[in-house]
Amino acid sequence: MALDHPYRQLPMPSNAPFELKPSSGKGWGAFATRRIGRGALILSEEPLFTIRKPHAEITDEDVVRAFQQLPASRKPLFFLLRDNASWQFRRVEHAFAENCFNMAGEDHGGRQRDGPRGLFLLHSRFNHSCLPNTKIPIPTSNREITYVQSFAIRDILPGEEITFSYECDFGCRTREERHQQLRFVCHCDVCQAGTTFQQLSDMRRRLVRGLQYLQIGKDLDGQKQEASGRPLITDIQLKRAAETRSIPLSSRLIYGLLVMVLTEQEGLLDDFLAERLSPSIWAAATMFETENNARLAKLAMAQETWLERLCVAFHLYGRADAADAALAGVLRKRV
Ligand SMILES: [Zn+2]
Repeated sequence: MALDHPYRQLPMPSNAPFELKPSSGKGWGAFATRRIGRGALILSEEPLFTIRKPHAEITDEDVVRAFQQLPASRKPLFFLLRDNASWQFRRVEHAFAENCFNMAGEDHGGRQRDGPRGLFLLHSRFNHSCLPNTKIPIPTSNREITYVQSFAIRDILPGEEITFSYECDFGCRTREERHQQLRFVCHCDVCQAGTTFQQLSDMRRRLVRGLQYLQIGKDLDGQKQEASGRPLITDIQLKRAAETRSIPLSSRLIYGLLVMVLTEQEGLLDDFLAERLSPSIWAAATMFETENNARLAKLAMAQETWLERLCVAFHLYGRADAADAALAGVLRKRV
């Protein structure tokens, strides 16, 4: 059956390090055909077409109009798309929705803006994992992208399935929260319910979310959390300090380092994420004005690993610094 599957007709770059084939329980997927080293580009792809509207506003008519503008030679490619059970889509809007990527860059808060959507024939074949081996980075400016690129975030062995995370904030979400957001049940290693690995993973990801709250005073949606329900921060005074940007510099440095260690232990600290998270940690370490604190922070950052840096920085815990008041003033102005 798979031999004459429409995906066999999708045009592949001649140097592609992967092939498309059925993936158990997930329809089709992309599998490495050779070893792909950490950091290597896997695929650079332009969209078949783009619709310049946010996701929720795209209709069947928009898709038909974009399709009609395609050159005749490209039109048949759209009809190769299949749903997860290899059936043709009943509505073109669904075919588009299931195979598109947001092409907007990040806003100032580091979240992806809701922008135009592009239809990607090959990248849409990559399946999801909450512990992926590949990343499709979002541009860190507010510019719109014209192509999508995927990179290996660790070494990928021949035969291994190429996966990426469909949501960029899953590193802060538990299994249950992730499954609520995905429209399918993920069976990746950290989604094996009831295993120690999964429980540890949930704990780490929730801790990272809480630590981020303490650093920026807001949750993933940019909002303050209500005290009811299952609050991230149960200590009311600490929560208030985070929301009024009154967390002392010593704690900020420790929280930042703890996020790095937890994310690294979770297997999610790829080079892109490290590049995004580490500048604020290095900056915090140089802001201390009280001499003893500054010396200790410098010593912490001189260590080789994030864990070693954290262990030294822990000695700063609970210490006030002469820079605290001025820092709080600067952070409050940014809100
Ligand atoms: Zn998963």
